[in-house]
Amino acid sequence: MSRKINHIGIAVNSIDAFVKIYRDVLGLEYAGEEIVEDQKVKVAFFNIGESRIELLEPTSPESSVAKFLEKKGEGLHHLAVSSDNVEADIAQTKEKGLRMIDEVPRGGAHHTKIAFVHPKETKVLIEYTEETHH
Ligand code: ZN
Repeated sequence: MSRKINHIGIAVNSIDAFVKIYRDVLGLEYAGEEIVEDQKVKVAFFNIGESRIELLEPTSPESSVAKFLEKKGEGLHHLAVSSDNVEADIAQTKEKGLRMIDEVPRGGAHHTKIAFVHPKETKVLIEYTEETHH
């Protein structure tokens, strides 16, 4: 399998303040916003080549992104790599001794199926992202 970077997730306190920077200064194409209820975040996407930058703003203090912001502040939150089959990637990741945050896939933005790998071994949170076509 050849992986691609599906997107790069960046945690911010307020998306609005950053749309101006990513769109107007960096010149990236703004691709809209979405609420991901499951993760209690609002996300905004910017297209960059075949990939995207995803800004994440927590919609609740219960969100894991809110906890991340408290501990580490704004910045790189996760790297999303493409997956043909999230269930298979979860299984092989565990088989090879790494810990998964999500043992079963959950719903991501844009009708994706996602699962997070624990960052202990990878040093940055990794998200497997499977595009499902609805
Ligand atoms: Zn993501």
